[in-house]
Amino acid sequence: MQSILIIGAGVAGLLAAQDLQKRGFDVTVLDKGRGLGGRMATRRINIGERTGKADHGVQYITAYTPRFTATVAEMLEERILQPWNVNGDAAATPPKRSRYIAPEGMTSVAKYFARGLQTRLNERVHTLRTETTGWTALTDNHEYQADALLITAPIPQALMLLETAEQKVLSDKEHHALSSVEYIPCITLMLGLGDEYVSALGKRKMRFEGTRAVMWFADNREKGISPDVPTLTLHTSAEFAKEHWETREEELVPMLLDELSDYISNNLVQAYSLHRWRFSRVSKPYPARFFAATSAPAPLVLAGDAFAADTPIVTRVEDAALSGWAAAEYLCGV
Ligand SMILES: Cc1cc2nc3c(=O)[nH]c(=O)nc-3n(C[C@H](O)[C@H](O)[C@H](O)COP(=O)(O)OP(=O)(O)OC[C@H]3O[C@@H](n4cnc5c(N)ncnc54)[C@H](O)[C@@H]3O)c2cc1C
Repeated sequence: MQSILIIGAGVAGLLAAQDLQKRGFDVTVLDKGRGLGGRMATRRINIGERTGKADHGVQYITAYTPRFTATVAEMLEERILQPWNVNGDAAATPPKRSRYIAPEGMTSVAKYFARGLQTRLNERVHTLRTETTGWTALTDNHEYQADALLITAPIPQALMLLETAEQKVLSDKEHHALSSVEYIPCITLMLGLGDEYVSALGKRKMRFEGTRAVMWFADNREKGISPDVPTLTLHTSAEFAKEHWETREEELVPMLLDELSDYISNNLVQAYSLHRWRFSRVSKPYPARFFAATSAPAPLVLAGDAFAADTPIVTRVEDAALSGWAAAEYLCGV
């Protein structure tokens, strides 16, 4: 096996690609998005001529395992990450787990993970073909071929994609096991604010709100991402997202602004952007670090944050990293 095609330039896809490329494989990473990072991304918010930025999905990173802790340490040295010191944490007994934010925005972490790789953005794979010699992935403009395929898209999207292959590539048992994974939805509201905005969050940069509607919100200027234009990121609870999945934006935005009325007045909001994450985080993971199909004609592996048997509560960037590395290790031995 010489070449490997990876669908998904999120954490799992990029870190798997790094390991595989280092071991001498010819690796290509495809993503339908305009930018790298998948759910770990930073968005621009324009107010007139000025541009602010807001972390869109991932807000901070934690590290529990030795390898990911070492990766975080590397990024601290490169100044891609910095510790997020929540007031009082230092004095807490036992000390709280460290959290890390990216002062240039979470996209900078994805760019770091993608260094030296062949990544093709704006390439949505819509059809797969397979035979014993390998895989072909079709996008609107290109056909990509490789000996093996690694898919890191959320599992429901990966399953839909696999159904486009003419042959059956998963057994009923495998399909059933993968379909049992559950995700929670989340709605993100990003706000661009007037200069008069004074952060009510102070050095904490973020606030875990935990109300029925708002799970948390973060001040991107305090985080250092958006020094010139104050911006906030708000994430709703899963319950609120489920209840309001179909609610029109014009109704939803005032509803969420109401929830923040203790922190910002409506007349400070100059621009906003709303995003609905159907597959935001995994509440019921697959009980292994990756999945390898047993009956596909050519090697097929699935990875991503859904492959995280022992994660606390919901899946995190670290789960995606561990899954990507485990999938790469497996593919090296195929
Ligand atoms: C709102 C929100 C907040 C979060 N906050 C945190 C946090 O603070 N800390 C934390 O640790 N984790 C957080 N997470 C979870 C974290 O984002 C994920 O665990 C992690 O980023 C998942 O990475 P991944 O590589 O598995 O998947 P993804 O990042 O989803 O990558 C999959 C990629 O596949 C691409 N793709 C899918 N289908 C196709 C196709 N057909 N063709 C081409 N490309 C395709 C997608 O565009 C995507 O880029 C948060 C997630 C969300 C949504």
